[in-house]
Formats: sequence, structure tokens, C-alpha cells
Amino acid sequence: MSQNIIIIGGGIIGLSCAYELRMRGFDVTVLEARRCGGQASGAAAGMLAPFSENTEGPDAFFRLCQFSLLLYPEWQEQIRSISGVHFEYANTGSLHIAYHAADLLSLEGRRLWQRQYGSSGEIVSGAELFRMEPALSRDVLAALYTPE
Ligand SMILES: Cc1cc2nc3c(=O)[nH]c(=O)nc-3n(C[C@H](O)[C@H](O)[C@H](O)COP(=O)(O)OP(=O)(O)OC[C@H]3O[C@@H](n4cnc5c(N)ncnc54)[C@H](O)[C@@H]3O)c2cc1C
Repeated sequence: MSQNIIIIGGGIIGLSCAYELRMRGFDVTVLEARRCGGQASGAAAGMLAPFSENTEGPDAFFRLCQFSLLLYPEWQEQIRSISGVHFEYANTGSLHIAYHAADLLSLEGRRLWQRQYGSSGEIVSGAELFRMEPALSRDVLAALYTPE
């Protein structure tokens, strides 16, 4: 059976697949129409924030993202040491903010169910919140800070 694999598209998904396949001994060719990393992958803000960017419950997509996040530190370190490219990975945590009193209950709900998935999140507000993120709008009432 042929060990040659062609991947169409040199974004983060195509290049990650190419890397993993190459590490498993396959010959890989990546076909990129423009520039590797030049489309969505180059536009992304780079946030890996499943505790913030998800629905109001632990659905399958949340669990996939959270599991992927756990693998990321080791994986990015591997890529960094092989490529010599430092792509500024930083584990800074996330702030999921609430502007209205009505949203505070849902913030607390998030905090509770996310605890079961490895979050040590806490609700922060007032001076403590603005010390954490000085550029935050003063209209923000509170935030769920998730260090993970
Ligand atoms: C503005 C913005 C902000 C984002 N922020 C985040 C974020 O903070 N966190 C996060 O996790 N995700 C974020 N995303 C989503 C993330 O960028 C994408 O999920 C991810 O980059 C998709 O990677 P990809 O390799 O599938 O696509 P792409 O990076 O788009 O790569 C696809 C490649 O395929 C090439 N191609 C297409 N058709 C062909 C063809 N026929 N032949 C050859 N080559 C072809 C394209 O030129 C392109 O280079 C953001 C996306 C955008 C647009």
C-alpha cells in the first residue's frame, strides 16, 4: 500500500496533519494554493479558550476542545524544539465577562459545571478585576476568570 499522502491546504490543520503523518513515517506532500498559514490560520486571534468559547454546557465540542487544550503545551513544545520557531504560546487564562446583573447567574452556572472539567475558575469583580485587566470597560460587572 502506498505510503504517500497528499494534503490539500497549508493552514494549521493541514500542516499539523502533515507533521503527525511525517512523524509516523509517511511521505507527505502539502499542496497550498497561496501561502502556508496565510488564510484563517493567519487571521486567528490564537486563543485556545474552551472554558470561554462554548455553549452553556459541557457538550461534545467543549469536551473535544478541552481535551485538545490539555495536549497543547507538550505538542507546541515539540514543534518549537523541532522547528526552532517560537510562536509565543502563553498560558494566561481567560476572562468571560458579564455586563448585566441578569448574566451573573449564568456566570455562576458556568463556574459550577466547569469545575467538573478541571477548571479552578473564580468570579472576580471591581478593583480586583480591573487590576487583572486594566483595559477592560468599566461597564463590566464581573467576570469568570479561568486560569486554565
Ligand atoms: C478572524 C479570525 C479569528 C479567529 N480566532 C481564533 C481563535 O482565537 N482561536 C481559535 O482557536 N480559532 C480561531 N479562528 C479559527 C481558526 O483560525 C481556524 O479554525 C483555523 O485556522 C482553520 O485552519 P485550517 O488549516 O482548516 O484553515 P486555513 O488556515 O484557512 O487553511 C486552509 C488552506 O487551504 C488553502 N486552500 C484552499 N483551497 C485550496 C485548494 N483547492 N488547493 C490548495 N490549497 C487550498 C488555503 O489557501 C489555506 O492556506 C479564527 C478565525 C478567524 C477568521
